Amino acid sequence: MTIGVLALQGDFALHARALARCGAEAVEVRKPDALEGLGGLVIPGGESTTLLRLMDAWDFVPALEAFHASGRPIFGTCAGLILLAREVLNPCQFSLGLIDVSVERNAYGRQRESFEARGEARLSGRPAPIEMVFIRAPRIRRLGPGVESLAELGGETVLARQGAVLVAAFHPELTDDLTVHRHFCDLVDRARVAA
Ligand code: GLN
Repeated sequence: MTIGVLALQGDFALHARALARCGAEAVEVRKPDALEGLGGLVIPGGESTTLLRLMDAWDFVPALEAFHASGRPIFGTCAGLILLAREVLNPCQFSLGLIDVSVERNAYGRQRESFEARGEARLSGRPAPIEMVFIRAPRIRRLGPGVESLAELGGETVLARQGAVLVAAFHPELTDDLTVHRHFCDLVDRARVAA
């Protein structure tokens, strides 16, 4: 199973390492044609405005829309969540709209207010303890009816899924906890079997 990691900016290398530790073959994606043949894609954290500029420069938007339309899973963390959301606030900016959530950027505070937390996710119907690192994270302010909340922190959703799109407000790749990456690999596996 080959999973791509969008490698334009941000902490793509740690995602690739986490995926490899889950037994997947991880490849860095720098151009749209590298999406061909992948079973799934991770969009890492970083700076969403910078990522948007680079995505635009390489004409990634239509390629990502086609990737999603083909049913292949996409996992966005932090800035990746911002790029995948239906609506972005603070300020309003372009997003792909592949998951029906509204997010507010930088709503957990500044860089030095970054924090770690433990929580419990519900993955494939089972409770799973998870470790979470929040860095200038977006807050999910609205969840559309088709979106399932998979984990909360302080009563707010921090991990969610709609169909083949999984999003996390936190950075699972910054811990040794592979729970969320394993879950994404399962989604990719199941999508592949269904195809
Ligand atoms: N604050 C960043 C943004 O708005 C996201 C931070 C992150 O990905 N850790 O794009």
